[in-house]
Parts: sequence; structure tokens; C-alpha cells
Amino acid sequence: MSATEDCLFCKIAAGTIPSEKVFEDDTTLAFRDINPKAKVHVLVIPRHHYRDVAELAGQDPRELAHIVAVAQHIADQTFHGSYRLEFNTGKDAGQSVFHVHAHVLTGEVLDE
Ligand code: AMP
Ligand code: ZN
Repeated sequence: MSATEDCLFCKIAAGTIPSEKVFEDDTTLAFRDINPKAKVHVLVIPRHHYRDVAELAGQDPRELAHIVAVAQHIADQTFHGSYRLEFNTGKDAGQSVFHVHAHVLTGEVLDE
């Protein structure tokens, strides 16, 4: 089985596993995290499979910039443009799903 066939977020991108979508276009999908760490906690993913943000930056930097723009759009809609953007990278940094995803935390004043 290839990495993408076995990948939770590839299945969410394909619609075979449901998600609560907040934004989508041809290349990119944003959906609510099932275990939110802030009032608004959204994950933004490319539809194409990259294992982490370093691989995405190397292979498709325009998509990485687009993910930042989608995060900004979500924060503009929900909390006057303030947000925290996190890419956990590597198991020991807390990455548990190896399909790159931006955590967008917003919707309330965040602790330091
Ligand atoms: P990370 O630990 O950085 O790899 O983040 C993975 C995130 O995916 C966690 O915050 C999980 O709560 C979230 N997550 C796992 N499964 C799902 C799912 N089916 N739908 C939405 N979010 C999910
Ligand atoms: Zn994937």
C-alpha cells in the first residue's frame, strides 16, 4: 500500500472520510480539527500528498504560500486577522499525521 492510500488526510481530501470543511478550492482544503485547541482550530492541507512542510516548501512553494493565504482568509473571517500558524514537523515535535497540515488557531485571544 502506498503512503497516499494509507493516509488519513488524503482520504479526507478525497471525501472518503468526512470532515467539517470551512474552505476548499482545486488545490487546497481546510477543515475543523476534531480535537480543537482554540475556539477556532482549522487544519489547512494541500490535496496533493507531501509528508511535511519542508517537503512542501521544496517541491511546491507556491502551494505553501497559498496555504498561508487561506489561513489569513479564515482568520479575517473569524477574528479580525489574528491567528497562530503551526506546522508540527517530525514525530518528536508532535507530528502525528504525515500529510502536511497547517494548524490555524484563532477565534479568541491566545495564550503565549
Ligand atoms: P499533528 O499532531 O500536528 O500531526 O496534527 C494532527 C491533527 O489532526 C490533530 O490536531 C488531530 O486532532 C487532528 N485530526 C486527527 N484526525 C482527524 C480527523 N478525522 N478530522 C479532523 N482532524 C483530525
Ligand atoms: Zn496524504
